[in-house]
Amino acid sequence: MRLKDKVSLITGAARGIGREIAFVLGREGAKVLICDINIEEALKTKEDLEKQFIIVEAIQADVSKYSEVEQMVNKILDKFGKVDILVNNAGIRKDNLILRMNEADWDKVIDINLKGTFNCIKAVSKVMLKQKYGKIINIASIVGIMGNVGQANYSASKAGVIALTKTAARELASRNINVNAIAPGFISTEMTKDLSAEVKQKMLAQIPLGRFGLPEDVAKVCLFLASDESSYVTGQTIIVDGGMLMY
Ligand code: NAP
Repeated sequence: MRLKDKVSLITGAARGIGREIAFVLGREGAKVLICDINIEEALKTKEDLEKQFIIVEAIQADVSKYSEVEQMVNKILDKFGKVDILVNNAGIRKDNLILRMNEADWDKVIDINLKGTFNCIKAVSKVMLKQKYGKIINIASIVGIMGNVGQANYSASKAGVIALTKTAARELASRNINVNAIAPGFISTEMTKDLSAEVKQKMLAQIPLGRFGLPEDVAKVCLFLASDESSYVTGQTIIVDGGMLMY
């Protein structure tokens, strides 16, 4: 077991990519703290994880609010005494063309995707600095590198996450804390479910591996970054997109 006795916190883990990351880290021996704004769904995921004998707690928190993040980290410390792995996965999209995008939708996406990632890094890195150990993995997106029509808020938030990853990696490296990002392409989850058949077809045509990604494709790379197999990797963004973006 590659993560035996490690304590991992995964945000937005009630469903989708975060849920799969919880299973993959849990199966490798990690204790799993699943944070989500949607506690009902998180509790269902907790039950499913427990069926596989994974030690798990579900915690409700809105990552865009620092006070809630701080309370969550304190609860984890009371119960488990440490945090070894943080996966910043919680994210939303609210797409529109720039001219039609309203201020509220811009703010909401930046608040959750970018500020939420900062909030969790800030609260957890305090703990990791004392431990002199930590793995932080931020879920970005390829659109944070290449941009995408209709996703000004989302792509800017993910570009911010990539830059934040590099800064955090530099600030925390001397205390044995690795900070990396994953930039997924198109992954089949609730987030992408409502895209039109036409948009999906156009995307598929651009993917050399000829299929959409699955949550487990991202989770397996996350496991590598959460384990000591990647101990000499920091500040990097690993693209998981079937070859859609090569640069
Ligand atoms: P998803 O199925 O929509 O799951 C996201 C989870 O995050 C949901 O359970 C959601 O709760 C929760 N969440 C939303 N706002 C939150 C907040 N403020 N605090 C805590 N939790 C919150 O999304 P996904 O497709 O698994 O995506 C996971 C991550 O991968 C996101 O960061 C996304 O941007 C990134 N990503 C996804 C794709 C893709 O193609 N799917 C591609 C590139 C990057 P609710 O149900 O209440 O909203």
